[in-house]
Amino acid sequence: MSQERILTITSIILACWAVIIITWERLFPYRKGLPLFREGFWLDLVWYTIIQSFVLKIVIFDYIIAPLQHHFDWSRFQGVSHWPVALQVLLFFVMHDFYIYWFHRFQHSSKFFWRTHEAHHSGKEVDFLSGSRSHVVEIIINQTIEFGPIILLGASPEVIPIKALIDSMYGMFIHGNIQVRMGKLKYIFNSPELHLWHHANYREVFHANFATKLSLWDYLFGTVYFPGTKPGDRPENWGLYYDYPKDYFLQHAFSVKRFEEKRLLRYKWFRWYYNLRPALLNVFLRRKKPLAPVAESDLTMTTATTEKETVTADTAP
Ligand SMILES: [Zn+2]
Ligand SMILES: [Zn+2]
Repeated sequence: MSQERILTITSIILACWAVIIITWERLFPYRKGLPLFREGFWLDLVWYTIIQSFVLKIVIFDYIIAPLQHHFDWSRFQGVSHWPVALQVLLFFVMHDFYIYWFHRFQHSSKFFWRTHEAHHSGKEVDFLSGSRSHVVEIIINQTIEFGPIILLGASPEVIPIKALIDSMYGMFIHGNIQVRMGKLKYIFNSPELHLWHHANYREVFHANFATKLSLWDYLFGTVYFPGTKPGDRPENWGLYYDYPKDYFLQHAFSVKRFEEKRLLRYKWFRWYYNLRPALLNVFLRRKKPLAPVAESDLTMTTATTEKETVTADTAP
């Protein structure tokens, strides 16, 4: 089957899956009252899902894996290429899932690598699209380690689009705001009931539920957290416990250098950039209640609030 045909088929399956999950979220929500166009919806869709994915696909495949393949081409060893495609997919699925469990766990325990992962935890409203919110560096590392071996070991060309499809479908599933009872399967396969807890703002889960697709790793290595209750419906029950920017570029800048937006708002250039995002949202979404820009006169109040804050990003993770 040609690559184009596979891509068309996987895209159709993914679109249908998105419709199924969105409908499921409306019918049986895990957390009630979460709107489809929740906070950060457009950030996740436009910046993370469309623009970042498109750019990083080129960077990872053309500028990292292709040169690596030039130097280390092990396909001549015929390691997996003669295996059935399903078995190849299964092998890379399990291998990468095992790797990502440990890398994810490491990101939660290293102050430095936490900065490449906090974006993923920043949403206060988690749904099917939230899985897309991942820092550039996190994606580059994880996808190079995911797709590099598939190409270097000369796996069948179908393996990459099938694997990418499984990633996207599973990502939507575990982040979906859906009520699912997994029964005994919860010991093997990850589910929203475990992963949504991973996005909750509770100390007990800061170092738990690291699995992406196979919850088996959490059970095996003793990091599962499943109290049988839910985190709660209030925004403070979810996401990070410190202030985090809402803008794509500021989120990436924040991972390099910590800053307080409220303090930077005293600079005219920052105020201009800070107000650009709500202004664009007002134009494109034609909001009935437009988002108000921050003006110079608001600053006395925001500086006073800043002084009172005690919890900062430096205390993370
Ligand atoms: Zn995490
Ligand atoms: Zn997640």
